[in-house]
Amino acid sequence: MNTYKIELIKLPYNTNSLAPYMSKETLEFHHNKHLRTYVDNLNNLLTQNDIQINSESDLYKIIREFKGKNNPIYNNASQIFNHNFFFFGLTPNSQKIPKGELLTLIEKKWENFENFKKEFTKIAIGTFGSGWAWLIKNKKGNLEIISTSNADSPLNENEIPLLTCDVWEHAYYVDYRNSRPNYLNSFWNLVNWEFVEENFTKE
Ligand code: FE
Repeated sequence: MNTYKIELIKLPYNTNSLAPYMSKETLEFHHNKHLRTYVDNLNNLLTQNDIQINSESDLYKIIREFKGKNNPIYNNASQIFNHNFFFFGLTPNSQKIPKGELLTLIEKKWENFENFKKEFTKIAIGTFGSGWAWLIKNKKGNLEIISTSNADSPLNENEIPLLTCDVWEHAYYVDYRNSRPNYLNSFWNLVNWEFVEENFTKE
């Protein structure tokens, strides 16, 4: 019997506070409908399959254990991780630019911060269909920008995610219709660089 349930995260900001870059309607739908559905689906699947979890961190275990194309337990669990990571990576009070060692490494790899943003944007826009763009610390400890499809994340390759942008159409359709470039343009006004820096120094 499964007693512990994965919970829908509470957003660390008001749903109207990311406007005009991300509207209240987009954020409410994304968090309270899309993400909630993944959470409900996963909890139902865990109960149906008699899978016991004991804490929120068991989400990582589930992602690793059920990894595989078209596994609904994996898909829902990984989408919960990705969305939680995405929402915590946004803030109404973005500093617009990272600091310290992270900034130094970004400038070393991409020459300057503007170039980094251009590269990340290019990879986000170029992600075919539904997916995610990520800044990661790879296995060698180097910064890298990657894209993943559908529910996949850098956790699958044991890499450390630092920042992500959700490029599923549901993330931007209400505000930008089909224009992923316009969405990306706005995304840079919302990045929580303190969250990215924390991820960078964690391990
Ligand atoms: Fe999404």
